[in-house]
Amino acid sequence: MSVKKLFIKSYGCQMNVYDSNRMTDLLRPLGYETTDLAEGADIVILNTCHIREKAEDKVYSDLGRIKPFKAAKSDMILAVAGCSAQALGDEILRQAPYVDMIFGPQTYHQLPEMIAKLSRAKSKDPRATILNVDFPEESKFDHLPDPTPTNADGSSAFVSIQEGCDKFCTFCVVPYTRGAEYSRPVEKIIQEIKALLSRGIKEITLLGQNVNAFHGLDSNSKEWNLGKLIKHIADFQELERIRYTTSHPNDMHDDLYEAHHRVSKLMPHLHLPVQVGSDSILKAMNRKHTCDDYLKIIDKMKSLRPEIAFSSDFIVGFPGESEKDFQETLKLIENVKYAQAYSFKYSIRPGTPAGAMEYQVPEEVKNERLYRLQDLLNTQQLEFNKSFVGKTLDVLFERDGKHEGQLIGKTQYLQSVYVDGKKRLKGSILETKIIDAKQNGLAGELILVQDGTQDQ
Ligand code: SF4
Repeated sequence: MSVKKLFIKSYGCQMNVYDSNRMTDLLRPLGYETTDLAEGADIVILNTCHIREKAEDKVYSDLGRIKPFKAAKSDMILAVAGCSAQALGDEILRQAPYVDMIFGPQTYHQLPEMIAKLSRAKSKDPRATILNVDFPEESKFDHLPDPTPTNADGSSAFVSIQEGCDKFCTFCVVPYTRGAEYSRPVEKIIQEIKALLSRGIKEITLLGQNVNAFHGLDSNSKEWNLGKLIKHIADFQELERIRYTTSHPNDMHDDLYEAHHRVSKLMPHLHLPVQVGSDSILKAMNRKHTCDDYLKIIDKMKSLRPEIAFSSDFIVGFPGESEKDFQETLKLIENVKYAQAYSFKYSIRPGTPAGAMEYQVPEEVKNERLYRLQDLLNTQQLEFNKSFVGKTLDVLFERDGKHEGQLIGKTQYLQSVYVDGKKRLKGSILETKIIDAKQNGLAGELILVQDGTQDQ
């Protein structure tokens, strides 16, 4: 079988990274190998995000960049997948008629069939396209091959356990693009995790749009929640680190609190988005919790796992947000002290309730608030990182650094750590003394073990 080149680019969340990996897994048996260059590739897939206007604009600009490559290679298949494909479908084909295939997050398991169908259709009409944005009855997970590791050294992997969302936050497109909430069956998840562990994976991140809403059934039709699943997989000897993302404050539950308290393999880092710190804006966002509810969760977590650190997503300039509302967000941030956070200006998502709300905040006000918010968050991140200087952290080394002899790994808090170390240490979790800290990473020194193995 001749080798064909696949260029795939993921935009947005880790769920998209997972989906891109699974598309790669699907195409490998057909002879496709990944390439870093869109130019000259046999198939180019842009796995898009629709959560913000900026992400959508980027897709159109990337399509424009790829257009000449497609013109130079007439048999190149140019595909747009993911949430923008699901939401915009025909519109993408109208704006970029040189695109060959459009498919959504729930139909990518049909990729081999779609490629064959496209090829048949193109033999009759070179302008033929495929648009596949249905929500099929069947679960794509039943049709996907075994997954492969997600990082360069093969020590970490994502496992999708839950998808879709029924919460309908007024700013968010996910319930429309990913569909209703769905939890995978427990046995399938465990099978996937065991397959990854047998290939040397040490760290698993359980993924879901609302991962802590997971309620998968086991073979006895008994429902498992996320806490129970974590406690179960923690017994797998080869598994050293467990993470989960993204969670919703309203889906925290007793088993999950207990897992944070008792399961040392569950990393002491929780991404728990709050979005804003104003109760009236939380209400307008349909988040269905108050700031106080959120802060109670933070306090409870800290009491159960004192070393835990938090990250969050923030939106500034939601319709109707006043300076007072914004000040309340800053106050909440001061109160929690985040290790890290993602922050964005609100942008109208067509079809969402917030897009039609009155009192849209002017762009210059959003810019100014985002600047102030990020200034505070950056300061907190730097302070958090600096608090480890002189201390020892466990670091999972994953890839080579820019300089010869440099390795990069991540701590239990997802901070990047740079050390001097031998290549063969990739894939190991090693005690590392932190010697310097910047906002985006730490510098460390490996602590030598008695037999000197780290130094050979
Ligand atoms: S909980 Fe809200 S923000 Fe998260 S995916 Fe669902 S609708 Fe979107």
